[in-house]
Amino acid sequence: MSEFVIAPPPQAVLPIAGTEALFPVRRVYCIGRNYAAHAVEMGHDPDREPPFFFQKTPDSLDASGQFPYPVRSEEVHHEAELLVALGKGGRDIAEADALDYVWGYGLALDMTRRDLQGIAKAAGRPWEIGKSFEHAAPVAPLTPAAEIGHPSEGALTLTVNGELRQSGDLNQMIWKIPEMIAHLSQYYTLAAGDVILTGTPSGVGPVQRGDVLELTCLSLTPLRVEVT
Ligand code: MN
Repeated sequence: MSEFVIAPPPQAVLPIAGTEALFPVRRVYCIGRNYAAHAVEMGHDPDREPPFFFQKTPDSLDASGQFPYPVRSEEVHHEAELLVALGKGGRDIAEADALDYVWGYGLALDMTRRDLQGIAKAAGRPWEIGKSFEHAAPVAPLTPAAEIGHPSEGALTLTVNGELRQSGDLNQMIWKIPEMIAHLSQYYTLAAGDVILTGTPSGVGPVQRGDVLELTCLSLTPLRVEVT
């Protein structure tokens, strides 16, 4: 048996509510502009154009409850999102079967270095530097679909220091969860351990050191994050 020449990097994991068990993560897909009001606030047409996705690296997931303010940015935004965790994978998954692939749900923040994203956009470059960096995806523990079912509606609410900043409803998603899974599976081979961040409602905005962000949705474990 071959040995590793350096210590293997740790497996990215998500905690699971009410248990010591862990959900191992393979890939983190994120959809862009999936709530009409957010597309408008970012200067785009809210019409139903084909969905587009980007990825964050799995090691950007962070369940510690702390978000260290990232380097090289002076405008870092919160994006409150529902996270979908896949328990099995495949290709060309039919929309009608897509929810069978979901293991569970959780809450996440798609933290964004908005200034760096804007520079990349203007130059026609990839968004990666604005989206994928250490600690860029604070997460709360998952709840299995076996417990919560498959939510398609329900308020998604983010407060910053107790003040309401983002308020939407899961039923406002332009591309629904089965549609996202079906679409992604046409371009990638999905696998158990893949997670999808499903987009953010309007109200995104900057965070400062010392801010406390609290994200709630249905009976999912709330996500509380302090910016440090
Ligand atoms: Mn997002």
